[in-house]
Amino acid sequence: MEPDKKNPGVKIMEVKNMDKSFGGVHAVDTFSFDVYEGEILGLIGPNGCGKSTTVNLMTGVYNHDSGEIIYYGADGSKHILDKQPTPLRAKMGIARTFQTPKPFSDMTVFDNIYTVAMLYNKSLKEARRQTEEIIEFLGFTKMLNEKSTKLPIEKRKWMDMARALAAKPRILMLDECLAGLTPSEIEESLEVVRKINSRGITILFIEHVMSAVVNLCQRVIVMLEGRHLTEGAPADVMKKPEVIRAYLGEGYKV
Ligand code: ADP
Ligand code: MG
Repeated sequence: MEPDKKNPGVKIMEVKNMDKSFGGVHAVDTFSFDVYEGEILGLIGPNGCGKSTTVNLMTGVYNHDSGEIIYYGADGSKHILDKQPTPLRAKMGIARTFQTPKPFSDMTVFDNIYTVAMLYNKSLKEARRQTEEIIEFLGFTKMLNEKSTKLPIEKRKWMDMARALAAKPRILMLDECLAGLTPSEIEESLEVVRKINSRGITILFIEHVMSAVVNLCQRVIVMLEGRHLTEGAPADVMKKPEVIRAYLGEGYKV
């Protein structure tokens, strides 16, 4: 989709000087960035640079020590996020998946999604209809009766995304949803992400392998040691000496 043409430059989230330490570890260090409605924004950086902590702070898993996180509602209303618990942020439209998928074990794919849908719909009938619609939309009909724990890893990750959709998010944060996948599974997963974005859902795409984001993201932000290193179009960012240094320093392929 091309939401930026319809709605140029409308911010959905704004992170200003966000800071978080765990004891002596300064995980996120005065980090600032904006997320625009409808975009697929990449958040990249070497392992341990603070990406998951950033998502955890934005979704309320942890509270930030200082700085500001702002969320703009669909009507443009401004919300300062500060100590609102994760379920409340989810109700506001902020959803995420985890680096390691966390299915409701022993439930089928359908029931995993339905369980979340029940929380976000007025009746069970509506929840069922929404679950069916998500499964159909993502093309997961074949796996709907499979037990989630029996699914191969890539499908477990897709189910996690489908389940997050049941919360009717406006922004979805995907934390390393490609980790451990083969090249063809990565391609299929990127298609699922594009489909979700085509519904107007803003995506914050967290990844440490930079090449994976080049064809997906319109814009990327590079993090290093908790800080904002640089940002821009993926192809431009990848050429920057400071980015190459940050990655080669860790032995990663840029
Ligand atoms: P990334 O997702 O980029 O790999 P993380 O955000 O997971 O990085 O971690 C950033 C730093 O914060 C690391 O040094 C990590 O060990 C530390 N960290 C993250 N979460 C915690 C926690 N709950 N307690 C202590 N240290 C943490
Ligand atoms: Mg992480």
